[in-house]
Amino acid sequence: MPNAQQNKLSSEDIDSVVKAVGASHANSDAQQTEVRRPQESLAEIDSFERLLQETDRDSTNSVGIPEHPEVRLVTEESLVTTSPCIACHATKAHRRYSIEGVSEELVECEKCGLGSLFPMPSAERIQSFYPAEYYGEPTAKFEPLVEFGVRLGAKMRVESLVGDLPAGSKVLDIGCGRGVMLRALLDLGHEAHGVEIAPEAASGADPRAQIRIAPELSKAGYAENTFDAVIMWHVLEHVPHPEQTLAEIRRILKPGGRLILAVPNFGSLQSRRTTNDWFHLDLPRHLYHFTPETLQRLLACSGFHFESVRHMAMLQNSFGWLQSILNRVSGTPRNSLYSLLHRGGEHPVVKSLSRRQRLQLKLGYWLGLPIAAVVSLFEAATGQGGTIAVTATLGRVSTPNPIVTIIESSSLQPALT
Ligand SMILES: [Zn+2]
Repeated sequence: MPNAQQNKLSSEDIDSVVKAVGASHANSDAQQTEVRRPQESLAEIDSFERLLQETDRDSTNSVGIPEHPEVRLVTEESLVTTSPCIACHATKAHRRYSIEGVSEELVECEKCGLGSLFPMPSAERIQSFYPAEYYGEPTAKFEPLVEFGVRLGAKMRVESLVGDLPAGSKVLDIGCGRGVMLRALLDLGHEAHGVEIAPEAASGADPRAQIRIAPELSKAGYAENTFDAVIMWHVLEHVPHPEQTLAEIRRILKPGGRLILAVPNFGSLQSRRTTNDWFHLDLPRHLYHFTPETLQRLLACSGFHFESVRHMAMLQNSFGWLQSILNRVSGTPRNSLYSLLHRGGEHPVVKSLSRRQRLQLKLGYWLGLPIAAVVSLFEAATGQGGTIAVTATLGRVSTPNPIVTIIESSSLQPALT
């Protein structure tokens, strides 16, 4: 992976992961790759936590961009000329969203619909999108119910994604964060490997896991044909050159190896309904915004055989609905519920809320979550999930993952033009 420094600059989970892969840390000492085994195993974060954490931290970053800047629709119809789309090579895109305090905009490829920041920021600038403590706070916890869901979700997810592989399989989690998924992999009897961009991001991971710290995946030093499976859970959207990241994954996967990618679904019902208020946009940190179709195109270009896509991720998708609707109707700053759940009263944005507003957000959370869950089931059942997890294989078409059953869409078009 290329110069992906940025992501990593500060992430911890999702992001963090991403970072690991794509980002090249501005910090230079990060250029060294080191192998280490974290001492304690604490917690379990899971992708949801990653998701939440990626956006939390301080309210502004090093260049004064709000942690959760407001996002606005670009009302005038206009096409811009871009560098070739990584999925279809088109060079025209529609302007869609502008971002408070940020000169880049989210544009959508005229031909395939892939969303991306335009112009694509430099590695140094991407780094500035991440608040200073982005990778910190390894023991951060969520509301008990959310925390429980996060832990249980990671266990169930890993079992469904790689539970059918023979015990002892080598599995790499790119952007492993504090190792929630690594622990689940170990519990399954697999050999768990992780890559992170910053040592602090991986603190607390199970000491049995083999973690490498590197500014980007290609600098982690893995040999060719090493892994039976590679997992990239909510990381690819942070990487400035996803096609280069996929090329490196192709190199280190064994023939027939499995790649699992989870990303927000730019074509989801919640994305299309809530548009600029959609929680999972996470601008400007998300550099790319995939749909199942654009991800399929990119995978095909990178030599992978697309196998399946899942649209069900109860926590991520339900919270996506809830926060997106609150962004639209609550009158509170963007992603206030997220900040309240994850940082509580310490968060600057939360401090700015009145008692009444905090109460309303909490009430909205507890009353709205069950409804959001039902809506998420509906969107998943119709192939429009707020986040998606795609499984692809390298070198040959393998048997589809047997666990991917419910809410799996087979509607993707095989042809990518
Ligand atoms: Zn395109």
